[in-house]
Amino acid sequence: MDDERVFFVFDAHCDTALRLTGDNPLDLGKRLADGHVDLPRMAEGGVGAQVFACWVDPDLKVGRWMPDTLEMISAVRCQAEKHSERLTVALSGAEIAAAGDSGRIAAVIGVEGGHVLGGSVERLEELHGAGVRCLTLTWMNTNELADSCDGERKWEGLSPAGREAIAAMNRLGMVIDLSHASDGTFFEVVEVSTAPVLVSHSSARAICDIPRNISDEMLRALAESGGVACVNFFPAFLEKETHTRVFEIWGRYREERSRLSAEYGGDPKRVDEEIGTGYIERIKKIPMPGIEAVADHVEHVASVAGVAHTGIGSDFDGIMAVPPGLEDVSKMQALAEVLAARGWEDGDIASVMGENLLHLFSTVCG
Ligand SMILES: [Zn+2]
Repeated sequence: MDDERVFFVFDAHCDTALRLTGDNPLDLGKRLADGHVDLPRMAEGGVGAQVFACWVDPDLKVGRWMPDTLEMISAVRCQAEKHSERLTVALSGAEIAAAGDSGRIAAVIGVEGGHVLGGSVERLEELHGAGVRCLTLTWMNTNELADSCDGERKWEGLSPAGREAIAAMNRLGMVIDLSHASDGTFFEVVEVSTAPVLVSHSSARAICDIPRNISDEMLRALAESGGVACVNFFPAFLEKETHTRVFEIWGRYREERSRLSAEYGGDPKRVDEEIGTGYIERIKKIPMPGIEAVADHVEHVASVAGVAHTGIGSDFDGIMAVPPGLEDVSKMQALAEVLAARGWEDGDIASVMGENLLHLFSTVCG
């Protein structure tokens, strides 16, 4: 690989938007002391486009799903306005490409979790009007649209409202994201959607056998639809043993969180204070698989789905541990270097690092 070459990176998923609202909203303009994403580090990592997923907690935020989502969307927009020379909200593939031509990073706005619609498919138009170009159908909970891989099997795939939502997203030109979806949901959507689909932040189930990852059969169906599957960097999705160790602690964290949440009437600040950082610190002490493991997943997805259907979705700022070698967004080019060292051609590296996603968003959003 030419040492000077910087590959265009299009990251299909980060949770940084969550840090832009609340009591201490962050500004992405300066290099932050914590977290994984800000504008200086994105520039260092060669990030040209980033999906900012807007997520609201389905349990803690009942009754405020849409308003809180819209607030988060405007927080992303505010950052783009404030740092307009470095960041711009892109509504189409053409705008993502144009952002790069003017030396700016394209912010693509996503929503994670169809629960925010509350079963009203018309709200998709409101989200689309607010600039959302990607919806993750489910989060960890089964909702009014579809079954989640971590939730109950209520619909055996899509609900009637879910099928309406797919048709509406096809019509509006919104990318359908199937990370977190149950296998039943996944196959039904691939079947009924007239547009190619996205799996924004899931790793390969053949290497790390958990329902949250994507199986070879799913990869083949996704490739046939023209979609892109993006590897998640979360070490607990890269290796089964790490998954077991991390989620044993995480499960207890969630339990205590819901107990405290009931005790303090859902006051998230009070809950955070009570729960402290002990659980997260314990998770951070577990030895984690590193950048080579991420590359293993990329190679597996590429070998099954094809290079043209492979991408990356870091899940930065949404994961409580990172793989050594890919500690934050500034390290993105290191993944390209690992692939090059494994004998990948520059053209294939470029496809996986970002060009496939640009093609998908151009196909779906125009
Ligand atoms: Zn997620």
